Amino acid sequence: MAHPIPGAAITQAFGVIRPDLYPIAPHRHEGVDFRCAIGTPVHACANGLVMAIGSPWGPAFGHDSPLIRHKVIVNGQPVLYYVIYAHMSHCDVVPGQVVVKGQPIGKSGAEGHVTGPHLHLEAQLGRAWRRGGGINPVHLLNA
Ligand SMILES: [Zn+2]
Repeated sequence: MAHPIPGAAITQAFGVIRPDLYPIAPHRHEGVDFRCAIGTPVHACANGLVMAIGSPWGPAFGHDSPLIRHKVIVNGQPVLYYVIYAHMSHCDVVPGQVVVKGQPIGKSGAEGHVTGPHLHLEAQLGRAWRRGGGINPVHLLNA
């Protein structure tokens, strides 16, 4: 898969727990955060289908964040990854739209529950998105 914002630094890794940010219900960080100014172009990590836009999972990710189902060939077999591109300020794709790897899908932002502008990239394997089911997307990006 391709990097959504080539060159952006990781500011929070996958799996860390931040009771300072979530004192009431500390939980694992389910994705990876990339530092980027508001308005930075965000690119699709792979070919895929836009499943939803907005916040069916709650307001934490903002209202312009796409959930894209990416089909990736791993060891000759198709694997489905559901990826959320969260906190975006603007989305250029719509549900049902087919996207190709590297295609611009919108602009990064600081919408929802954030302490500053960044892209939160959250990936899940082979099923519809569900809270708490993240896998480390860095391994996918480097594959
Ligand atoms: Zn995050």
